[in-house]
Amino acid sequence: MTTQTKEPSISSLSAEQEFNPWEAQAARFDLAAQKLKLDPGIWKVLRYPNREIIVHIPVLMDNGTIEVFTGFRVQHSIARGPAKGGIRYSPEVSLDEVRALASWMTWKCAVVNIPFGGAKGGIICDPKKLSQTELEKITRRYTAELIEFIGPEKDVPAPDMNTNEQTMAWIMDTYSMHMRQTVTAVVTGKPLNIGGSRGRREATGRGLMIVCNEAVRKLGMQPESTRVIVQGFGNVGSNAAKLMADVGYKIIGIGEYDGGLYNKSGIDVDALIVHRQRNGTITGFKGAEPAGTSELLVTDCDILIPAAIENVITSRNADKIKARIIAEGANGPTTAVADDILADKNIFVIPDILANAGGVTASYFEWVQDRQGFFWKESVVNEQLEDILKESFDEVVRYSETHNVNNRIAAYMLAVDRVQFTIRQRGIYA
Ligand code: NAD
Repeated sequence: MTTQTKEPSISSLSAEQEFNPWEAQAARFDLAAQKLKLDPGIWKVLRYPNREIIVHIPVLMDNGTIEVFTGFRVQHSIARGPAKGGIRYSPEVSLDEVRALASWMTWKCAVVNIPFGGAKGGIICDPKKLSQTELEKITRRYTAELIEFIGPEKDVPAPDMNTNEQTMAWIMDTYSMHMRQTVTAVVTGKPLNIGGSRGRREATGRGLMIVCNEAVRKLGMQPESTRVIVQGFGNVGSNAAKLMADVGYKIIGIGEYDGGLYNKSGIDVDALIVHRQRNGTITGFKGAEPAGTSELLVTDCDILIPAAIENVITSRNADKIKARIIAEGANGPTTAVADDILADKNIFVIPDILANAGGVTASYFEWVQDRQGFFWKESVVNEQLEDILKESFDEVVRYSETHNVNNRIAAYMLAVDRVQFTIRQRGIYA
C-alpha cells in the first residue's frame, strides 16, 4: 500500500498566498523542480507562462448600453505541442487564476503523455446575469480578439466552468468565418454534429471513475462498499457521480453552491439529474436530507471528490477530512499547505493533474478525429481513455513509490521531467 510521504514544508506560504492558485501551482512546481535537480535555466523557462494576453471586450447589451468585459488567454507552454486548455466564465476569474490553470494544463497533458502544451482562458463575467445573446456576443468578440493566437496547430480552447458545447460552437463558427473555411479542430468539447467527439461530455467524470477504480483496487477496497461524497454537480461532478453509481459505488453526499444532500443509503443520481434539470437546483430533492456543502467535505466517507472550484481543502479543514481517498475533479481544490496535512493523515490523494485528465484526453481524441475527418464509436473513445488513464495512474503511483514522494509531487515530477526533456531536445531558439 502506498503511503503519502510528507514533503519538505510548503507551509512558509502566507495566508494570502495559500489561497492564490498561482502560488499553489508554483509551490508544487518548485518542489518538483528541486527534487528533479532541474537545470536552473529550464526552471526559469517553466516557472512563468510563455504568453499572457489580456483583452477588454466591448459588448452591446440587450438594454442598448455598452459594457466592457475583461478576458484573458494564457499560454504556459507549447514545448510538447499546441497549447490546450479550457475557457471559464466567472466573476472570480483573475490573471493569476488563469496563469495557474494554464500551467496545470501543461503538467496534465504531460502526465497523460498527449502531444499538447498548456493554456487557459477566462472572462470576468457573471453568466447567471447575462442573456444568451449577450453571452454569444461576448464569446464571439473574445474569439475575434484572439484570432491570431488560437488555431488547431497553435492553441485549442475547450469548455470549463460556465462554458459548454454551445460556447464552443460559437468560437468554432467565429474562427471559421475569419478563416473563410470551416475549422472544426480549433476547439474541442463541441456538439457532436459539428465535429464533437462521442464520449467527450462524460470524459472527465469517466476519468475520475477510472482512477478511483484503480485506487480502490490498490487499497484493497470494493466499489460496492465504498461511500462517495461529491462537491459540485456540474459537468464533472454529475457525470462522475452517475458513472460511479452505475458501477456500484454508493454516492452518499452531493454538495452544491446553494446547499447539499446526504443519504447514508445512497442517493439515486439519475433521479437527482432529472430533479436538477426540472428545478435548476439540487435542493428540495426528496431522496435525501439537506446538508451543508462545507460540512459534506468533512463528513465520514471513503472517497471525497471535490469537483467544483479551487481552494476547498485548506489549512482550515484538511485535518477534519475523514475520507480515505481524495480524487480531485476540480482544478486546484487543495491548497499547497493542506497537502502536508493530508500526507500526515495518510490520505491517498489522486491529484487534479491526473484525476481530471480524462477531459483533455478525450479532447485530444476529438482534435485527432476532426483532423482525420473520421469519427470513432463511443466504445473506442472510452477504451482508449481507459488505457491512457490506467497507464498514467500506474506511472504516477510507481513514481511516488520509487522516489518516496506523495502522489501530487510524483505527478508534477513526471510531468516536469517530460516537458524539460522536450525543451532540451528542441533547444532554445535565438
Ligand atoms: P460546471 O460549471 O459544469 O460545474 C461546476 C458546478 O459546481 C456547478 O454545478 C456549480 O453550481 C457548482 N459550484 C460552484 N461553486 C460551488 C461551491 N462553492 N460549492 C459547491 N458547488 C459549487 O463546471 P465543470 O466543467 O464541471 O468544472 C468543475 C471543475 O472541474 C472546475 O475546476 C474545472 O476547471 C474542472 N475541470 C473540468 C473539466 C471539464 O471537462 N469540464 C475538465 C477538467 C477539470
